[in-house]
Amino acid sequence: MESKINRVCVFCGSSSGKDPVYLAVAEKLGEFIAGNNLELVYGGASIGVMGRIADTVLDGGGKVTGVIPELLQGEVAHAGLSELHITKTMHERKAMMFEMSDAFIAMPGGLGTLEEIFEVLTWAQLGYHSKPCGLLNVAGYYDKMIEFLEHSVREKFVRPENIDILQVAGSPEKLFELFKNYRPVKIKKWLDPENIQ
Ligand code: AMP
Repeated sequence: MESKINRVCVFCGSSSGKDPVYLAVAEKLGEFIAGNNLELVYGGASIGVMGRIADTVLDGGGKVTGVIPELLQGEVAHAGLSELHITKTMHERKAMMFEMSDAFIAMPGGLGTLEEIFEVLTWAQLGYHSKPCGLLNVAGYYDKMIEFLEHSVREKFVRPENIDILQVAGSPEKLFELFKNYRPVKIKKWLDPENIQ
């Protein structure tokens, strides 16, 4: 059964990227979140794409919850959030962000962003949750990663049904439309020998 999305967890760059379009899309998603009375959960930093989306949601009157490990707190924590949770470790941080959120979105980002979105995807694949996961693919930033995932399906390491766990769109409106129609995949993760042709 479809469950309502209230809190959206966004994974994105602690850098701003080369092209101004990356910060522009953070503003678009931030406006969408605030404008639709959703709440933002994110990594709690004041810098890069992360800082921009948090500022935009706050400016739009929305609630923003940051979750940051103590190692990063002094350096980059955003001082003006609705709530800021400090965790001991990175693992506690990700567990908390996961528990708090009803859906996950990756915008352009680096290694941290990739790790975070792939973690929630692998948990969905194993049936630990059925919360929607999406990619906001701005200016073709993730095209090569999507190509690689298709390659991993062709090479029989990923089931075609499981690649569909990752919903991909170029705008927040389209992505949330996909989330509304998302039906969790209910199959075993493993590719059985008889399926390999
Ligand atoms: P990256 O994409 O490598 O810039 O990493 C950004 C993602 O990893 C965010 O979604 C954060 O949750 C986490 N992260 C990485 N670096 C930081 C940082 N300096 N401050 C807060 N969160 C960070």
